[in-house]
Amino acid sequence: MKYRILGTSGLSVSEIAYGNWITHGAQVDNDIAYSCVQAALDEGITTFDTADVYSDTKAEVVLGQALKGIRRESIELCTKVFHPTGKGVNDRGLSRKHIIEGCHASLNRLQTDYIDVYYAHRFDPAVPLEETFLAFSDLVRQGKVLYIGISEWNAEQIARGAALARELKVPLIASQPQYSMLWRIIEAEVVPACEQEGIGQVVWSPLAQGILSGKYSPDKAPPQGSRASTAAGAPFFDRLAGQWMRPEVLLAVSKLSTLAQEAGLTLPQLAIAWVLQNPQVSSSIIGASKPEQIRENVKAAGIRLDLDLMKQIDQTLDGWIEYDPGKTG
Ligand code: NDP
Repeated sequence: MKYRILGTSGLSVSEIAYGNWITHGAQVDNDIAYSCVQAALDEGITTFDTADVYSDTKAEVVLGQALKGIRRESIELCTKVFHPTGKGVNDRGLSRKHIIEGCHASLNRLQTDYIDVYYAHRFDPAVPLEETFLAFSDLVRQGKVLYIGISEWNAEQIARGAALARELKVPLIASQPQYSMLWRIIEAEVVPACEQEGIGQVVWSPLAQGILSGKYSPDKAPPQGSRASTAAGAPFFDRLAGQWMRPEVLLAVSKLSTLAQEAGLTLPQLAIAWVLQNPQVSSSIIGASKPEQIRENVKAAGIRLDLDLMKQIDQTLDGWIEYDPGKTG
């Protein structure tokens, strides 16, 4: 494993992080979840990503159990707040009430005293940003949160948040957007806005939820047990990756396999290495339904792709790459 500094902070993260969206507490049994976490640790992954909302709060519980007994200083444990975690009017959003209560609930479920990076999972237009940042800042001063992050905020929201973080002297160091060979919208505005503020990118779905593993073929049904075919995964997959389940796109993706082979990589490794070529990306969060996927995918760390290969990737996917900064994940 290789490690990078997150933004201009002092925090090191593993180039490849392990996230448990859809899988833990839903798609896979707990014993498989535990073996995935063990595989991640064995491969040198130190950065773990979850959220209160994943699997209706069960994902945090499973991750907390899986990491029990691990030396806390040896990992970076990251979670998020914003999406509804209950039926109450205050069980959601970025109000002071929900951030403080949400943090306490996450600490409980994760069985830890502090969160390394606590993300605002989305921007909340219904709450004054000053209120949100004051709540985050109090958690930082109490030692319950070490660093703050934002996820899927646009450039203007990031600039406003960074100004408040500076004023309150709290470390806003991470942005967590979707980024892959197929989904490059952060390049136009989000990355430059973050770079100016010293905020690093911890990107999600580098495989476009499995599309860029090459496992989905234009002329076959999704493989059994894959995210596209399971009750836990299909609704998310259809909503966020459905746009790529077209024969033309899948055919283009299948052509990438030859490029990967020529580079001595598997297609998932090529796709993950691709996001890590962007120097503003500090870490790429991978998901996995099996420990073997983690063992394969971590080999993307530290790989340099030459410019000619980068160009061939662009040519192969030409017409199917999303750049529009108006779109969000
Ligand atoms: P990926 O794009 O890495 O997709 C992971 C899925 O692809 C796996 O669960 C598996 O699904 C399949 N896969 C992985 N490796 C292989 C392989 N080698 N061969 C074949 N199939 C493979 O990332 P995710 O979409 O899972 O997102 C990663 C993390 O990012 C999440 O866990 C979460 O922490 C974070 N995230 C954050 C969001 C945000 O709003 N901030 C939103 C979404 C995710 P299967 O085997 O089931 O087909």
